[in-house]
Amino acid sequence: MEHIVIIGNGISGVTAARHIRKGSDKKITIVSAETDYFFSRTALMYVYMGHMKFEHTQPYENWFWKKNRIDLKKGYVKSMDTTSKTLHFAGGDSLQYDTLIIATGSKPNKFGWPGQDLDGVMGMYHKQDLDNLEKHAPNNKVCKRAVVVGGGLIGIELVEMLHSRNIPVTFLVREDSFWDIVLPKGESEIINKEIRDNHIDLRLGVNLKEIKSDANGKVSSIIIAETGEEIPCDVVGLTAGVSPNIDFIKDTPVETGRGVKVNRYLETNIPDVYAIGDCAEQHEPIGQRRSIEAVWYTGRMMGETVAQTICGNKTEYKPGHWFNSAKFIDIEYQTYGWVWAQKRDGESSFYWEHEGGKKCIHINYDTSSNTFLGINTLGIRMRHEFFDRILNEKRSVDYVIAHLADANFDPEFYKLHEKEIAAKFNQENNTNIQLKKKSWKRIFQNS
Ligand SMILES: Cc1cc2nc3c(=O)[nH]c(=O)nc-3n(C[C@H](O)[C@H](O)[C@H](O)COP(=O)(O)OP(=O)(O)OC[C@H]3O[C@@H](n4cnc5c(N)ncnc54)[C@H](O)[C@@H]3O)c2cc1C
Repeated sequence: MEHIVIIGNGISGVTAARHIRKGSDKKITIVSAETDYFFSRTALMYVYMGHMKFEHTQPYENWFWKKNRIDLKKGYVKSMDTTSKTLHFAGGDSLQYDTLIIATGSKPNKFGWPGQDLDGVMGMYHKQDLDNLEKHAPNNKVCKRAVVVGGGLIGIELVEMLHSRNIPVTFLVREDSFWDIVLPKGESEIINKEIRDNHIDLRLGVNLKEIKSDANGKVSSIIIAETGEEIPCDVVGLTAGVSPNIDFIKDTPVETGRGVKVNRYLETNIPDVYAIGDCAEQHEPIGQRRSIEAVWYTGRMMGETVAQTICGNKTEYKPGHWFNSAKFIDIEYQTYGWVWAQKRDGESSFYWEHEGGKKCIHINYDTSSNTFLGINTLGIRMRHEFFDRILNEKRSVDYVIAHLADANFDPEFYKLHEKEIAAKFNQENNTNIQLKKKSWKRIFQNS
């Protein structure tokens, strides 16, 4: 019987396994060095914050795998031979495959900072990082101050985690404003304020120079490159982005760039070897998407897609319109379509911010045709299916403003903000768009 081996028990590998099982009787083995069972990486922060136990991050009961004839092997793949189709483990044993799916995810970036491997210095990616954080930062007596280096999505999560235990945090961000390589100025400034409102010591436009240790090899302070300032601390979180976790593949014939190179069918250059999830790099980016996308839902989609192909129904990976969501301390962020940090040629934008400074809407549209291109929202939840449809139908920005009632998720929104937003748009654009009532179809569907 054909043996499918999947390296990685994250969302992409596990989704592939589940769908291959649905579509076939093939033998399936999932390998992971991290944990016995699949867990939701996006929920790791809530374990530290005490909202749930680690077991609750595991979407499937432990019996699920045996019942579905999915073998689990704990072990670290050290090397592989694609000619004899063999994986070699750090423990000395090996495993044969007929078809291999590489789903090894990401690892935190380290840039060769002096002291980056000291005790008390950690990323926030793997379960082991969480255990490490629990050990070094159980409370503010053991950890009097933490320094988090790198202002992206994981960085702000780690800041929030530490803050939830009243541990003072210094947050070093290289950019001049939080995540301003992705967020436009308005959104980025709202988040700067949110961070500072939570009494986080946010330092913008600075880099880490080095991490210093005490006599026992444990972190004792960091030095800021620009100012030479020394900040005493007990924990340093390195959250300056992630990159594909593929070191053991680099000296195999499987083509790699930053990630494992794949075509639209998620095939590598080696027959019977596929790559999915965070570790896969598209030869050609799809539309305006990045060639590597380290997000949860694309990992799931790739897992579903590769399973179709492996079960005989060759299927192209088509991720559809870009969307993403996150939470910046207490402010929810959503994005649909494309709103760039810097407006591009031929694009116009409309920005509305609530006077409280914690909510905004930022719509991007084509200047000549008025076609809606994308939206960012902070503090306001929008409907995914609405924007998916709008982008498919290439609707205008006027349509979106008129249909805000259908676009938003929050029943209070109409009462609170819709009129103000439409009035601002009309005033700035010399238009007279009238707000439409919530469509009956939608009300009916939701009742
Ligand atoms: C703290 C945090 C919060 C996040 N929040 C969000 C969010 O809100 N929304 C969102 O879209 N995304 C979020 N992400 C990103 C998201 O979690 C990832 O995109 C997703 O988990 C990637 O899934 P994957 O299956 O590709 O890889 P992974 O989940 O990384 O799984 C890969 C597995 O392979 C194992 N492995 C690697 N190499 C080997 C080897 N050689 N031998 C054996 N095993 C190996 C790894 O240990 C790991 O268990 C977050 C990530 C983190 C770290």
